Amino acid sequence: MLYEIEEDKFRDECGVFGIYLNKPEKDTDAARTTFYGIYSLQHRGQESAGIAVSDGNRIEHYKGMGLVTQIFKDEHINKLTGNIAIGHVRYSTTGSSSLVNAQPLVFHYLNGMVALAHNGNLINTAELRKRLGTYGSVFQTTTDTEVIANLLARYSQDTMEDALAKCMIDIKGAFALLIMTEDRLVGVRDQWGIRPLCLGVIGDNYVLASESAALDTVGAAFVRDIEPGEIVVIDKNGLRSLRVVNSPGRAHCIFEYIYFARPDSTIDDINVYQARREMGRQLARESNIEADIVIAVPDSGTCAALGFAEESGLPFEEGLMKNRYVGRTFIQPTQQMREMGVKLKLNPNCRVVKGKRVVMVDDSIVRGTTSRKIVEMIREAGATEVHMVVASPPTKYPCYYGIDTSRREELIACTKALEDIRVFIGADSLHYLSMAGLKAAMNNHQPHFCAACFSGQYPVGIESQEV
Ligand code: SF4
Repeated sequence: MLYEIEEDKFRDECGVFGIYLNKPEKDTDAARTTFYGIYSLQHRGQESAGIAVSDGNRIEHYKGMGLVTQIFKDEHINKLTGNIAIGHVRYSTTGSSSLVNAQPLVFHYLNGMVALAHNGNLINTAELRKRLGTYGSVFQTTTDTEVIANLLARYSQDTMEDALAKCMIDIKGAFALLIMTEDRLVGVRDQWGIRPLCLGVIGDNYVLASESAALDTVGAAFVRDIEPGEIVVIDKNGLRSLRVVNSPGRAHCIFEYIYFARPDSTIDDINVYQARREMGRQLARESNIEADIVIAVPDSGTCAALGFAEESGLPFEEGLMKNRYVGRTFIQPTQQMREMGVKLKLNPNCRVVKGKRVVMVDDSIVRGTTSRKIVEMIREAGATEVHMVVASPPTKYPCYYGIDTSRREELIACTKALEDIRVFIGADSLHYLSMAGLKAAMNNHQPHFCAACFSGQYPVGIESQEV
């Protein structure tokens, strides 16, 4: 049984990576490149991972539970031969955490074999399952990805592109989807572009990935982001772009910039590092705190803390050290270790904070339980004041687009007023970035983003969900 040091954060969804080798470069092999691609996207999902490969005739796959490096050994990669591959890292948002739900999903249908890797969440899964059930579809998993697979099978009398076109009309919600048949790689992004997906090249070969950092890792040059509602089909004739649904507008997930994505990624023309740094600068302008030093809750608060320090003129110090290797373990923690919890992951640097008025920057507060423990640790380490600043507005609403948020009543900003949250976490003062500040930090492109977990304004209808 796996035990986890619990983190009080919105949980990442999934990461996808795919490659089509038209003219394989020396030393480029589809499965191995995909391994490194999903390895670089590990932050987007740590529960399971998988790779599927096609050699033009048949699709083979391998998947397992755990981290990418725990699942794949050289012997597994060596058996995955072919020129097209897709890979997936998963943190379950719908469907339970088990191997049967791990992706890519590989299935046989009328026209051959298909592999699917999906990041996001459909909001009309129940309705589609019911409809497909009346046609006799059976489901082996509890994922919404299998609903897409069944829809493709349902339209199997059409060409793959026509089937996909029909699918795009049926499915609603957030999705960055990779589909591989024996002879082609397809990338699809939802109408609003909620979840990220970008295109790169290695020589004459195409790569698709959730984040541009994965392209950098495998030596691919960034070409562009896939447009909302766009389908790209890559085969021996090259790449073609199809549009079957109109995009009603853009609603890129703003939380990618706040927390989920790697700071070295650029998503939809905005660099994540620069966005976070600007959020920190904005926060300094808005909060105006008298203090001696600025520290970050690592790693997610670091970029914003640097921006805060820059704007406020206060020195940035490493006041909290993170054990980067803490994750899941098979060793059951003792009750005492459970209570230590956060300390296994973060430890204050007493020499830095002792006798200081500390500004502590984090990217977000979800339930507030971890923030409370960290504030207490900093005080115990000798800080005279602890001012908590948060580089995003209060998270008051759950996400229905593939992010695992707590239930609404568990979100501390939903149930408590600002002063009550301050008292709960035990800070001397508490400041959140305003919506206007967040908008300014995103170059005032805010109408192009989904910020529903702050505002409750969901871009795609969620009539059937609890708001
Ligand atoms: S609700 Fe929040 S986490 Fe979900 S897609 Fe919108 S911005 Fe991202």
